[in-house]
Amino acid sequence: VTTSAIHERLVLGVDIGGTKILAGVIDRQGKSLLTVRGVTPANAGPEAILDAVGMLAVQLRSETSGLVSACGVGSAGTIGPTGIVLRATDHVLDWAGTDVVAGLRSRLKLPTVAVNDVHAASFGELWAGDCKGTARMLFVAVGTGVGGAVIAGGRVLRGATGAAGSIGHMPSRIARGRMCSCGELDHVEAFASGPGMERTYREATEDDEGIGLTEIAALARGGDPTANSVIVDAAQILGDAIVTAVCLTDPGLVVVGGGVLGMAELFMTPLKNQIEKELPITLRATTVRAAFLGNEAAMVGAGLLAHRTLDGLGLDSVFT
Ligand SMILES: [Zn+2]
Repeated sequence: VTTSAIHERLVLGVDIGGTKILAGVIDRQGKSLLTVRGVTPANAGPEAILDAVGMLAVQLRSETSGLVSACGVGSAGTIGPTGIVLRATDHVLDWAGTDVVAGLRSRLKLPTVAVNDVHAASFGELWAGDCKGTARMLFVAVGTGVGGAVIAGGRVLRGATGAAGSIGHMPSRIARGRMCSCGELDHVEAFASGPGMERTYREATEDDEGIGLTEIAALARGGDPTANSVIVDAAQILGDAIVTAVCLTDPGLVVVGGGVLGMAELFMTPLKNQIEKELPITLRATTVRAAFLGNEAAMVGAGLLAHRTLDGLGLDSVFT
């Protein structure tokens, strides 16, 4: 961290995902000055996860002479307006009911704000991405799960229960009796998420051990037809869901983020092809592209949300 940055207000931005925790020191422009990452202790309970965030925060603060003024969090699950997890899938054990804001405020002794991780990522793109200031967007995150956010009038649509944009829990066209992380069958996430693709590959190869998504991607790059079709199938299932969402919201722009960006064009090309193929002609001008901030979008967005809170702008100003 440079001397000039010391004179500017800094906050912590934290992304608590189903697999990893990403934490950074974020300036007012949404620049990440320092980033650390940890593994989410997803099976150890909420206190262990909050402790892990606390430890990453201590590390960041010791390297910035303690000069951070607030903490913003993007977390897996549906997060209520006061920062309590209202609902969560089974990626993180016992996460529902956790008071993320109170738990981190007491550990960090900082003003804290928390929202859903996909909402946080869409804020990152909206406030610091190359679509900065856009009024409309559909943001889709593909990683451990599949999530979405509908942006209208520059704000994220929350919906009646906070679940608007749940594109991962739309029914897929595949009826295979596969359990989704939410406990129901054959949702988009069960096939198009990272674990979903790994499972499809495992079933296709009848290999009980299974291999990870990175290896599947490497095989596909090397010309393995099974690995390639697993990725193309997932992209097509997600593409169909995005087409439905675009027909309902006409966002003009679809931004795809999350861990799947590690596969780059291997996933994005069949996804774009499917959307282009299925979109009605009136909506075919819709732009589809990868997140500008890559997989740092949720961390940056959470940090910028904390800056806004310090500026006196409440969550009412970012949600609708
Ligand atoms: Zn589901």
